[in-house]
Amino acid sequence: MSNDLTVQLREELLSREKRKLYRHRLTLESPQQTHVSIAGNKYLAFCSNDYLGLANHPQLIEAVCEGARQYGVGAGASHLISGHSSAHHALEEALARFTGFPQTLLFSTGYMANAGMVTALAGRGDAIFADKLNHASLNDAAMVSNAKFIRYPHLDLSVLERQLAMSQATRKLVITDAVFSMDGDVAPVAALLALCEKYDAWLMLDDAHGFGVLGLRGRGTVSQFAVDSRRIIYMATLGKAAGVFGAFVAAEHEIIETLVQHARSYIYTTATPPMLSHALLKSLELIEGEEWRREKLRQLIAQLKNEMRSLRWQLLPSATPIQALIIGENDKALEISATLREKGILVPAIRPPTVAPGTARLRISLSASHDMADIVRLGAVLRELDNNSVSR
Ligand SMILES: *Cc1c(COP(=O)(O)O)cnc(C)c1O
Repeated sequence: MSNDLTVQLREELLSREKRKLYRHRLTLESPQQTHVSIAGNKYLAFCSNDYLGLANHPQLIEAVCEGARQYGVGAGASHLISGHSSAHHALEEALARFTGFPQTLLFSTGYMANAGMVTALAGRGDAIFADKLNHASLNDAAMVSNAKFIRYPHLDLSVLERQLAMSQATRKLVITDAVFSMDGDVAPVAALLALCEKYDAWLMLDDAHGFGVLGLRGRGTVSQFAVDSRRIIYMATLGKAAGVFGAFVAAEHEIIETLVQHARSYIYTTATPPMLSHALLKSLELIEGEEWRREKLRQLIAQLKNEMRSLRWQLLPSATPIQALIIGENDKALEISATLREKGILVPAIRPPTVAPGTARLRISLSASHDMADIVRLGAVLRELDNNSVSR
């Protein structure tokens, strides 16, 4: 019988491979950084979410070691049993101070934070209004929540307003990526908040890609828009710009306490190693104190736009380190990504269903650790490919 299952799966996998949808993992032999080593070869990489270049920072490595000596390597229990350490607690307080929200709660990952907060705050009789381009974790959370799941076209606030106006739901939650992960554009937070106020809805912001990068000293997208409202439930990850691992939700006291009581992905899982929280305290210091990292990113983004200007392929408008070069056809995007790789440059090709059909793209993500020379090198190779494909 088990053979039947493997035969069936093998066929499905083969079909996936034929449709060029099969996914393969790269195995890094080096730390996450702008130059990585894979199978003995060095690559210039534009793939990570390590926007500030902190994932391999010597002070964070030292902080993890110090944290391990102080707290050991494992939490050993869930937060509500005996896994909640003073390191977790100190980080939650530091994150509240940093973001300006009354209280925060750590989760093991952003995926789990979204799962936990959406399902704890929305259920039968409630409605979730979600941008079509939201991250998969938000969609998965909405689907298991039992709330009515209503999606609006990307950034289309007039459709959202109609949906909100028609809704009879008890509780209304508008959920959006603050920075969209495949396009790099930013949600109109102030306008969304105004709609939430008008229709008595809550606004959940997933700032996975804005925290540490946007706003005053890296405080994120809420700071960038200079909004302040009790309706905002803010989520950010700590494995991207913060360089380590984990996530947190920031909101009013009553919301956070509700998550502690009801968020299943918080309750039924082992707490993250306290040594990581210890390191994240240091990471927060670097995020806040080292403005040069964000300034460098701004310069790199400007440089990239300049390099890409003469190409036939266009960058989507984005002021964030996520820069999408739209190629169009899947095969072409894969081909360009493969050729770049042969030339020692890693840029992932992103295809449907992750993005809309006909908008296969290279997703170029920048880090403060890149040099101007890295951008110039990428530009030169892309121009060469562009010229070759014109003459063909
Ligand atoms: C990465 C990401 C997540 C998930 O965060 P993890 O900590 O990696 O689980 C959630 N939302 C968005 C928009 C993301 O990009």
